Amino acid sequence: MNRNASQPPSLTTTKQLNLVLPAVTVGGLVFFALIVNGIFFKPSTQAGKTSLIFGAAGLLYMIFISIWGVPLLRNRPYYGWLLAVASGVGVGIIDVYEPALIIGTTLPLSLTIIVILAVLSGRWPTYLFTFLVMASNIFSFLLVPVDQTSLFFLEAILIPVIAVVITETILGLRNSLLVEMKRLQTLNRVARSLASSLEMHQVVTLVSSAIQNAFAADTYYVGLLQGETFQMELFFDDGEFFPTMNIALKDTLAGRVVESRHSLLIRDLVSERKKRNLPFIIVGRPRMSSSWMGTPLMINGHIAGIIGVASYQKNVFDEGDLELLENIAQQAALALDNAEHHAEVETRSQHDSLTGVLNHNAFLARFERQAREAVGLKNPLSLIMLDIDHFKMYNDRFGHLTGDEVLTNLCQVIRRNVKKSDLIGRWGGEEFVISLPHANGPQAFRVAERIRTTLENLAIKDRVGQLIPSPTISQGIAVLVDETLDFIQLVDLADQRLYIAKDLGGNKIEPSLRALEENQPLAESEGTEA
Ligand code: GH3
Ligand code: MG
Ligand code: MG
Repeated sequence: MNRNASQPPSLTTTKQLNLVLPAVTVGGLVFFALIVNGIFFKPSTQAGKTSLIFGAAGLLYMIFISIWGVPLLRNRPYYGWLLAVASGVGVGIIDVYEPALIIGTTLPLSLTIIVILAVLSGRWPTYLFTFLVMASNIFSFLLVPVDQTSLFFLEAILIPVIAVVITETILGLRNSLLVEMKRLQTLNRVARSLASSLEMHQVVTLVSSAIQNAFAADTYYVGLLQGETFQMELFFDDGEFFPTMNIALKDTLAGRVVESRHSLLIRDLVSERKKRNLPFIIVGRPRMSSSWMGTPLMINGHIAGIIGVASYQKNVFDEGDLELLENIAQQAALALDNAEHHAEVETRSQHDSLTGVLNHNAFLARFERQAREAVGLKNPLSLIMLDIDHFKMYNDRFGHLTGDEVLTNLCQVIRRNVKKSDLIGRWGGEEFVISLPHANGPQAFRVAERIRTTLENLAIKDRVGQLIPSPTISQGIAVLVDETLDFIQLVDLADQRLYIAKDLGGNKIEPSLRALEENQPLAESEGTEA
């Protein structure tokens, strides 16, 4: 059982006041009638004076309730008991002093106070009040055994019966109102937070906390469809998160949701399983769920995933819960779609559209981060800057499209010869940069050499399928920490060495100084693996 889900939201002071206002008004009218009764009909009698005093006191009481009582009780719920005792004693006094007022006064008063107490203080203070009224009635009957047996029964039996009916109805209505309010609140919160989520994991986490808040769920998951399986991005079971897992859709409840493209609510999973002869597929804790609901995550008319929620108890979820889950799923699907678009745009804005490597700015931004880290940890970081030799000739002789083909082929070759954590960027035109964290001068030289020789042996065809001469490249290498601590200076160094290599006639690598000093650019040492 989820703690948050059982915690009901509370009604606002204004809402509570609106709920008790009719009862307070009726109560006020009754007391007003007592005042009128005292003044006009029996001004000189004892009963008249009593009526006047009770009327005035009661009217003040009703005014108190409507002005101060509601906010006071909201902040200090235990005052409800005080109010119940005060009201019970008040009505009791009227009873004992004036048994004749039962029909005209005590009955409508008791009923209005029951309504007020039920709304403001809940069940037990209301029943305490009812008990006090009953007790005072019995007491007054014993005290003055006048011929009012019928009235006695009316009050002693009818009031408690009516009290139970009124109280339970009010509490029932109030609870369903609160549940509805909570659903709307949850949805509102989810919608607001999801609308600003641009990252898939953020969306999944938000959905998870929404489910935790909204339902009495023991288990839930957000699964994204991948063909015949679904990837549980998040799976929570009985207080524990399980790592991402991939589950075949076949014979699962999720599979039924995907197939029907509709939500599914199963109140009693155990009997449903027997009826339909469904196999048990247990993921997470080795316990069987007894209530289940699931809804598809629809993006642009296709099912992208599903949200499943379950409980170990049966009959935990109703249509209202399913509707809320559907609404959450709708918001989540929108947010996932947004996140996907955002990621796409983000990727596109950082990569070169022709070759797929990082563009100049994106490379520089990430390279700066890598360089800072290398300096901080005193790790080496090598930068290779390379340029295709006589590239203009390819464009002029074979056309721009073939030139493009050379560029994409070069990038494929580079990619195949560096690590995933290395950065490749298009510096501009036919000039590229490679950042190799943890690689020293000799290691970087070997990477450069691998790229050079792979490229030499690469077969590239022109538009009519004729082999064209393999492109060659010139490369310059500079090493961070060894040669400089400044990443901009590192770029300059690599650039200068690239032009030295170019001047030497192309298809050359100009290594870092340290590599030169050690005169071991090709020496065997740990290499940078592709
Ligand atoms: P060098 O050996 O001195 O490097 O000479 P180069 O011809 O390689 O260098 P240059 O700077 O003279 O010419 C580079 C050419 O690259 C000019 C430009 O039109 C071409 N280029 C730049 N970007 C692209 C591209 O995206 N596609 C194609 N096909 N050509 C490009
Ligand atoms: Mg060139
Ligand atoms: Mg160039």
